[in-house]
Amino acid sequence: MSVMWELQDFDGHEAVHFFHDVKTGLRAIVALHSTHLGPGAGGTRFWHYENRETAVTDALRLSRGMSFKNAMAGLPMGGGKAVILADRHRTKTPEMLAAFGRMIDSLGGKYVTAEDVGMTAADMVALTKETKFVSGLPVKNSSEAGGDPGPFTAMGVYLGVKAAVKYKLGRDDMEDVHVAIQGVGSVGGGLARLLAKDGAKLSIADINKDHANGLASEIGAEVVGLDEIMRLEADVFSPNALGAILDKVSIAHLNTSIVAGGANNQLATPEDGQRIFDRDILFAPDYVINSGGIISVALEYLDSGDVEDVNNRVAMIPERLTKIWEESAVSKLPSAEVADNMAMKLIGRD
Ligand code: NAD
Repeated sequence: MSVMWELQDFDGHEAVHFFHDVKTGLRAIVALHSTHLGPGAGGTRFWHYENRETAVTDALRLSRGMSFKNAMAGLPMGGGKAVILADRHRTKTPEMLAAFGRMIDSLGGKYVTAEDVGMTAADMVALTKETKFVSGLPVKNSSEAGGDPGPFTAMGVYLGVKAAVKYKLGRDDMEDVHVAIQGVGSVGGGLARLLAKDGAKLSIADINKDHANGLASEIGAEVVGLDEIMRLEADVFSPNALGAILDKVSIAHLNTSIVAGGANNQLATPEDGQRIFDRDILFAPDYVINSGGIISVALEYLDSGDVEDVNNRVAMIPERLTKIWEESAVSKLPSAEVADNMAMKLIGRD
């Protein structure tokens, strides 16, 4: 492997920590991209990586994304991310989690963790036995900030989709606006339910067919094939499953005038932002539209607001997106690039 600083995804990261606990076999990486605005905040991903290089790349990319996401959400938090290199069977033991908690604690608060793919709310609770630098814990009453970030993310994406429809199609309502949703889990499912209440026409696709069929009959959506969802003729394509789905080939086949969804890192490469722009498709930068969850997690960690404060901040997502689209229209730069430039300025890297 090349020296860290020479890696393609290394972007002035302040520190990258490699941890190994011999007793439990735990191997983890904590990447801190920027602590300019506050402690590096971002979830822990528990994943079986094909090789170590992919795990490093994931930590570098995701931590940079968190710097941008937190900055654009107006939070006093920097960007960090942890990845745990799981074995093929994704073995996770209490001893391993405890060792991981001690590793986070050894960073003295420079990194604050939360849930991400492969980790659960119960895992977060387990980590609190070893460290206080953890968020996304169960709430004691419904007015407290915190708990499952999914519904807050879904609400932000819903408001962002409506803002995109207003900006691009000049529509103030969602009646019969056709939205194609890829992935109807925590975020996509929440989005679908909110849009259904507004009378939107919904097409959905999910690898979990039972889940998709159940939701479709609950809200009156149509289930379409996994290959079909990204090519469907609709008003909005909303990715809420995987990252890196927007590439040269898929962008050429998009049949909507808007792409707005909650999945992280939707663009496969920076050039894909330009490709979407060249096709005159309005793109909602993912880390701006999907910041609802981190807003909740951050306010919980900082103990600086209740659920009403979280909702008020989530309600500002449309304004942020509109500012990006307006600037993109004036500068003729892709919205993804405009957002990156804004975020870089906020973290003192312009
Ligand atoms: P989830 O696991 O609850 O839902 C994801 C859904 O996508 C599942 O139902 C899964 O079956 C489906 N899926 C997976 N691969 C698919 C494919 N190829 N085609 C169609 N469906 C597929 O996860 P989530 O919490 O809803 O997160 C969804 C996305 O949003 C992820 O990219 C995540 O990183 C991002 N995100 C989530 C949050 C949050 O608060 N949960 C916050 C920010 C970003």
